[in-house]
Amino acid sequence: MSVTVRFAPSPTGRLHVGNARTALINWLFARAHAGRFVLRLDDTDIGRSDEAHVTSIQADLRWLGLDWDLMDRQSAQLPSYHAAFERLREAGRVYACYETPEELEYKRRRLLARGRPPIYDRSALALDDAARAKLEAEGRKPHWRFRLNADVVAWDDLVRGPQHLNAARLSDPVLVRGDGTFLYMLPSAVDDIRHGITHVIRGEDHVDNTAIQIQVFAALGHAAPAFAHLPLLSDLAGKGLSKRLGSVTLDSLAEAGIEPMALAAYLAGIGTAEPPEPAPTLGDLARSFDIGKYGRATPKFDEGQLWHLNARLLQNLPWEAVADRFDAMGMEQADPAFWEAVRPNLERFEDVRSWYTVCYEDILPVIDDPGFARTAADRLPPEPWGQTTWAEWTSELRDATGRKGRALFRPLRLALTAEEHGPELKALLPLIGRRRALERLTALDARTSQGMPPLAHPARMAQAAEPGPGKAAR
Ligand code: GLU
Repeated sequence: MSVTVRFAPSPTGRLHVGNARTALINWLFARAHAGRFVLRLDDTDIGRSDEAHVTSIQADLRWLGLDWDLMDRQSAQLPSYHAAFERLREAGRVYACYETPEELEYKRRRLLARGRPPIYDRSALALDDAARAKLEAEGRKPHWRFRLNADVVAWDDLVRGPQHLNAARLSDPVLVRGDGTFLYMLPSAVDDIRHGITHVIRGEDHVDNTAIQIQVFAALGHAAPAFAHLPLLSDLAGKGLSKRLGSVTLDSLAEAGIEPMALAAYLAGIGTAEPPEPAPTLGDLARSFDIGKYGRATPKFDEGQLWHLNARLLQNLPWEAVADRFDAMGMEQADPAFWEAVRPNLERFEDVRSWYTVCYEDILPVIDDPGFARTAADRLPPEPWGQTTWAEWTSELRDATGRKGRALFRPLRLALTAEEHGPELKALLPLIGRRRALERLTALDARTSQGMPPLAHPARMAQAAEPGPGKAAR
């Protein structure tokens, strides 16, 4: 059997990390099984759907590296929903209801007050033709409910294991509103049939819907697909898909400097027993993908961990993977040696800019002891410079001045880079070159390290400033 899965967002907002995880896991499942991935836009709710979000959802998925074999929109499939509805009506599986929202709310409260579950009482089923005609004459428009069979619905969930859900404890779901528009329940099942969906992988907030939809599939004469329900992400405070997590959108992470492959590896890894590991491509993630690895425990979205993975990913990227980005940023002098030197110190790719300046542009050096800087300048070895230049130079300086360790290296680093910390000077020195090194060590307009703020990359600063999600969450 060939596999077909779908990701079915409602275009009512930007994709956040929770949606992105569902999309990614579906995509990986499809690719791991040489199957198809369908992007379905659940846009029947015209009032809340927005064309701008249709565009942004596609852009965000592409940013993450996900492609789709087919895109469909529910708003383009209304005739098929009407046909399915007629079929259910002929089979006696739908019935017209006339309660107003206020009346339903009143019934609900009364049941709850009596300690009973707030299940719809099916009083509309008891209406005869005359009663219905009378209500319609009063101007009431019917909404339509699906009549559930009071069976135990069972399925073998790929994540949760064997499931048994008694449909008698669910309200008959409304399929069609009073204004004739469809709610999510029926169109989703009709689309899953049309697209030949073999596996529905979605959040566990849909477990009750699954019990209902299994009955809808049967009523339409189709076998139900397989189901996998993933636990929803929570934030570090343990709150479910909270407002805060909902605001961690893909575009905000991209803007803060998260690499798409870092996010993909992170989202694919959390919720499994194995810690997320950086992977070079989505294909690599797909090769090791197994839906059975996802457990029932709530995965915590930890933005600090994501940043950590981002740094590890950057440290492993080869020059070929980034050369184009340097071109695009106009950093023409960047070369493989530069990348090798700076990549261990990046939290985000954007940080290359400051090291580019250190290597190839002008900086204001930091000099506390001009006498020592002068000595260091006098002893700069002649060019050509290479990987051993730093060791030769500093060992000569050690002999000449008696300085060693931090007392030797810190002033040199401050003079050459104007930073307390950074990439290995052994690698930076040949990139800075003799002319610039000499200029910096002998600069008359240098500043001192007094009052220098501790080195802080934006990402690290944001994490320090507030516990939990960093810059991107705000
Ligand atoms: N549009 C629904 C949602 O975003 C789709 C659920 C499903 O995957 O069936 O929750």
